[in-house]
Amino acid sequence: MTSGPRPLVAGNWKMHGLTASLAEIEAIGAGYAALGASVELVVCPPATLLAAAAAIAARFNLGIGGQDCDAQASGAHTGDLSAEMLADAGASYVIVGHSERRAEHGESDALVRAKASAALRAGLTPIVCVGETRAERDAGRAIEIVERQLAGSLPAPIAAERLVVAYEPIWAIGTGLTPTTNDVTSMHAAIRARLDALVGASAPTRILYGGSVKPSNARELLHAPHVDGALVGGASLTAKDFLAIAEAA
Ligand code: PGA
Repeated sequence: MTSGPRPLVAGNWKMHGLTASLAEIEAIGAGYAALGASVELVVCPPATLLAAAAAIAARFNLGIGGQDCDAQASGAHTGDLSAEMLADAGASYVIVGHSERRAEHGESDALVRAKASAALRAGLTPIVCVGETRAERDAGRAIEIVERQLAGSLPAPIAAERLVVAYEPIWAIGTGLTPTTNDVTSMHAAIRARLDALVGASAPTRILYGGSVKPSNARELLHAPHVDGALVGGASLTAKDFLAIAEAA
């Protein structure tokens, strides 16, 4: 961890709303209160749990985020949730452009940018996800791919203190595989340089690492240069593992 902004550890519960429950939010909140506030902690539950989770989280200063939002504020969009609705339900963050949404819902960089901009409009902080495939990394193109995603997906205009970028190599998500610390550092340095070029001093923008972060590897990954926190999937589903990662940060 560099001596930059306060580290952020965000949990992405994905579609595990029956595996993880509101009791886990309560346990994460209670553990977080005991941990002290040197790390900012956020849970992004499925939308069905969001409002109830936010009511619990408020007692512990635990942040709540959505996992996706529509680019529009309201309207005839069956099944979609606007950033304004997430904010109304108690969210302060929203993940946009997760690789699962880019792959399963065909989300383009342009759509991710529209969603990130919508998040800012609604007063939420977008967590914009970028990351390369295994084939792209093997071809030596990881940094080029991520720079292209950043160029297309970041909101406009950028508010450095209301932006989080999550570097998540697709091949590391849910696989138990992680890049080397050196590869994480080089990628985060490249992202930082790109952010600096876009917004001048980008120091308040946190750059998270995501992909198979666990209690056993959190300390090394989270203390790598230019890493300002983590986006955690599987290991955020239990308070014990998620809090161990927060503690390592
Ligand atoms: P994982 O997921 O920690 O289960 O690899 C990370 C993510 O998809 O955000």
